[in-house]
Amino acid sequence: MKILLVFAHPEPGSLNGALRRVAVGELEAQGHEVRVSDLHADGWKSAIDRADFPALAPDARLRPAAASGEAFATGALTADVLAEQEKLMWADTLILQFPLWWFTMPAILKGWVDRVYSHGFAYGVGEHSATRWGDRYGEGSLAGKRAMLIVTTGGWEEHYSPRGINGPIDDLLFPINHGILFYPGYDMLPPFVAHKVDRLDEAGFDLVAERLRERMRTLATTAPIPYRRQNGGDYLIPSMRLRPGLGHPGETGFALHVDGGDGGGPDRPD
Ligand code: FAD
Repeated sequence: MKILLVFAHPEPGSLNGALRRVAVGELEAQGHEVRVSDLHADGWKSAIDRADFPALAPDARLRPAAASGEAFATGALTADVLAEQEKLMWADTLILQFPLWWFTMPAILKGWVDRVYSHGFAYGVGEHSATRWGDRYGEGSLAGKRAMLIVTTGGWEEHYSPRGINGPIDDLLFPINHGILFYPGYDMLPPFVAHKVDRLDEAGFDLVAERLRERMRTLATTAPIPYRRQNGGDYLIPSMRLRPGLGHPGETGFALHVDGGDGGGPDRPD
């Protein structure tokens, strides 16, 4: 397999740096080709601004989505963005690795998404009409590929459990798994999460590292999270609401968009 790991930690000697070496080492030992985008080492520019669109007239109003669509369509994206898009198309598996900072990804990685996900590349793809709302949520430019997160947290696993004060980890990661990665088509593998890592000792590291190696060994065979596909028949168009009767009784929020085996799918009547 061809694997792209996007790494978002400023310190190579960090725990995340060590886990990255574990992951890449295991993948290479399995014979996979691995490329790494090390955002801090590469001096990644996080914020979208006019410099992203050199073709935009100096007096034109900057409308980021429109400008990125125009630049994508005309081959006028900046070289750093083009290089990342090329890597995404090259890889059949994408891994985003980061420490949880304020309940989400560090700003540099969010900025990578903002800039690399051009209009026409990651969104605004496919037919948009009264009966179809584009190719997204399971379809799109990156369909057929797999993705997963490698995340470390300071908080305990219990703090991120269903009744934990931080909120369930699956809910916190939903905007990334579902909103950023499933959206342009990736099949999302369950995340690898290492909790309570701030005082990890050597024995603790060995356990986390072995758990991570196992996930790297099973990248191709792990079952994806069964998110419902937008165009799979479970949603009404154009409201994009889940059809009445789908989901478990009383279920609300993010969990509704995971197919819990309630019989949803293309052949289901309204
Ligand atoms: P490091 O600090 O580099 O290392 C952690 C521990 O692992 C150290 O004790 C280190 O000695 C040890 N270690 C063991 N083996 C090794 C090895 N081989 N190599 C390197 N180190 C090793 N946490 C939350 O739960 N929720 C949040 O919302 C949150 N927000 C944060 C916001 C910010 C801005 C910051 C800075 C932290 C936040 N944290 C939060 C905590 C954060 O998630 C953790 O500090 C982070 O995940 C630890 O990863 P690291 O790579 O930075 O670890």
